[in-house]
Amino acid sequence: MQKQKIGFIGLGRMGFPMAQRLLTAGYELVVLDVNTEAMDLLAKEGAEKATSAKDVADKTDIVITSLPKPDIVSGVALADDGIAAGSRATIMLDVSTTGPSAAKDIAKGLAEKGKQWVDCPVSGGIKGAVNGTLALMVSCPNDIFETVKPIIENFGNPVHVGEDAGLGQVVKLANNMLAAAAVFLTAEAMAMGVKAGVDAKVMLDIINMSTGRNSASLDKFPKAVLPGTFDFGFATGLSYKDVRLCVDESETLGVPMVGGSLVRQILAITQSKYGADSDFTCMAKLIEDWSGVEIRG
Ligand code: NAD
Repeated sequence: MQKQKIGFIGLGRMGFPMAQRLLTAGYELVVLDVNTEAMDLLAKEGAEKATSAKDVADKTDIVITSLPKPDIVSGVALADDGIAAGSRATIMLDVSTTGPSAAKDIAKGLAEKGKQWVDCPVSGGIKGAVNGTLALMVSCPNDIFETVKPIIENFGNPVHVGEDAGLGQVVKLANNMLAAAAVFLTAEAMAMGVKAGVDAKVMLDIINMSTGRNSASLDKFPKAVLPGTFDFGFATGLSYKDVRLCVDESETLGVPMVGGSLVRQILAITQSKYGADSDFTCMAKLIEDWSGVEIRG
């Protein structure tokens, strides 16, 4: 069976390596990004460059998007020169963290043009995108899941959350709120230990052998806080967006989210102090600043 031709819009930290993996797997790829340099690099590896999202959807069967914010995903999908206006593609699969409300709106807009939406947010960071080991949280009708599965298996492990638009996004927001909370709370615990006189590396090793271990203590602190590099690879602005979407969704559902609201405020402060492009491990830098210690090993 001939492989589907795929469009890829958004060639950033996550999208670029994911697009590369599709090329390596032998898919014909049409790419688009406002950053022409990223397009040029992939063109050298065999991808075709597009001029608009409509152009991508005119030339391919399935369009994948990896974009920063819900309003950008929505524009790329539904604007006059967007995916919905394209003549060939029948499926738009979004690997961005877009939130359930935008997912439902975009799904509706695409359905009006006879196209199918798949939300497929991912977890596992840049390393997961490069190695094809991402967790993929997919919501779409069962038959569409079977169609896209062979393609997205190149990115990692797809789990079909359900058929309704936005369900994958709900799971992703919950996960990212927890991941951000882990950075914040680990920073508080570590700052206390270091200020009391415990060596940061000794403290982290003990936590990682004990019941307090978490994704930040196991991964983010050894890689980006103890060396003082604050460069794990996930932007503060994106983490803030995710936790904001998470708290908004819980409010819409009538579920109190006290801890999540606190994490949202910590991210708001981190963003105003270090900028939206700073790494989200800068939450630890903020706690260092407030505590008057550095968590280094
Ligand atoms: P990024 O900012 O590195 O990449 C986004 C890309 O989209 C950039 O190359 C940008 O130029 C491009 N872009 C922006 N507007 C555009 C438009 N209108 N048309 C075409 N291209 C456009 O972001 P990222 O870290 O790759 O994240 C992408 C998405 O994946 C986000 O929704 C993020 O929340 C999610 N995500 C990121 C990570 C991570 O670790 N970085 C992990 C999981 C999920």
